[in-house]
Amino acid sequence: MIHFVGAGSGGADLITVRGARLMEEADCVIYAGSLVNPDVLQYAGPACALYDSAGMTLEEVIARMAENERAGKTTVRLHTGDPSLYGAIREQMDRLDALSLPYDVTPGVSSFCGAAAALRAEYTLPDVSQSVIITRMAGRTPVPEGEALRKMASHGCTMVLFLSTGLLENVERELLAGGAYTPDTPAAIVYKATWPDEKVFRCTVGTLAKTARDNHITKTALITIGGFLGTDYARSKLYDPSFTHGFREATV
Ligand code: SAH
Repeated sequence: MIHFVGAGSGGADLITVRGARLMEEADCVIYAGSLVNPDVLQYAGPACALYDSAGMTLEEVIARMAENERAGKTTVRLHTGDPSLYGAIREQMDRLDALSLPYDVTPGVSSFCGAAAALRAEYTLPDVSQSVIITRMAGRTPVPEGEALRKMASHGCTMVLFLSTGLLENVERELLAGGAYTPDTPAAIVYKATWPDEKVFRCTVGTLAKTARDNHITKTALITIGGFLGTDYARSKLYDPSFTHGFREATV
């Protein structure tokens, strides 16, 4: 059996209980070494074979999994954060399907959740934003034209940019071209959210590139944008004394 497991965003104790148990039981762990905290590997048993996929091709990863299956061994494929976001798991699953090899997926704490925790923020504030756009700036990996950053930025909602820290001049330009954010719209760069060396830099849309430059942040960071980082919002209906819902009658 092959288990795709989300390692969580950094902190080794942020893997799920299920993910840690699968690690303990695994004969082989293939981990995405460029981003998975090596401390997460402590959950693997002493006899477990460890492979860093950073230096492997898709074909080599699949060949390792297939060989493990032939030998009756259990494999954990450990991805950073949650495997469903920029994890390149679909191409692995399709090849495993073609080989009739069994697998399942265990979710993880994505770094965008880790970043909110680091910021002590709520992405969905009443009267500010009720949507979160998760996207990236087009770089060596293209983004479909309909999802160009300036189009996504036209909504003015909460936005979280993955894989874009090296492109912040372009990010600033595209965010402003959307017309809904201004140079003063609050933004933050969260470096290594939930890792021991996590860093948070609060800034604005107009100072994203400078903030990253001044603090030497070039990778392993998320860019968050929007009024959720500001001070104004409306209180929730859910806990409002004058609001009745399925679990509570209004008291005023
Ligand atoms: N599946 C992962 C994302 C993998 S893509 C997840 O759910 O988080 C890799 C990108 O994610 C990095 O370039 C960076 O933009 C972001 N990232 C991953 N871990 C991070 C962390 N702990 N803090 C900030 N950004 C992180």
